[in-house]
Amino acid sequence: MATCTYTVPDKSASGDNFYGAVICNQAYVDYFWNTYGFSGNKAYWDDGWGWDDACNTSKPLARAFNGCYALTYSARDYQNDSYSSAILNWGRRYVRETIDDLRCFCGDGTAIARSKGSGLIEVYLGFFYTKDVPGRAETLIHESRHQGGKPHDANFPTGSTFGGGKSGADSSWNYEGAWMYGALYLWWYYAAGARTTSALRERARQRGNVVIDNAFATHPGFSI
Ligand SMILES: [Zn+2]
Repeated sequence: MATCTYTVPDKSASGDNFYGAVICNQAYVDYFWNTYGFSGNKAYWDDGWGWDDACNTSKPLARAFNGCYALTYSARDYQNDSYSSAILNWGRRYVRETIDDLRCFCGDGTAIARSKGSGLIEVYLGFFYTKDVPGRAETLIHESRHQGGKPHDANFPTGSTFGGGKSGADSSWNYEGAWMYGALYLWWYYAAGARTTSALRERARQRGNVVIDNAFATHPGFSI
């Protein structure tokens, strides 16, 4: 961590104040730690990353926990995580069943996170300090979809904010890739999210539309 430099953006806008008031609870901390791949990876999450300061939403670990809370509890009936329900319900189950190890690194600024195979997801500074709280849940779902066997299969369209012409896009919505999973999650969070705020739901809608407009070689043809 000593080699990382970062600034903490407005924690009200990102949702870190809202969620941070909730996650500072040993039961949640234990659940997230043991469920989403932190367990066994203390060596990555200590030494400045927040392991000894798990309620401090300026530090990476608490900000990851905020994303885990949104992922886990944003469906009104969150205890139903059947795959025949909405992704707002089963997103948490998909991530739980997919990620074995979640490790943090400074990164080089070129990616928010990467799926490394064998259940290993790496998250970088942008995950904590660029993405807002629902956006972190989106990232966990996105990377889990890669672990689930769906790589990106196309180049970003001309003018894409993610880099027109570069690889990393999905060919279409119907490909049901990582971008689709993430956008679909944000759509549901916007439309039906519980235990959140109207401002965060609106941010999820906006982010979902950024994904829809920029991450598919063939535009899905709709917006949220
Ligand atoms: Zn991806």
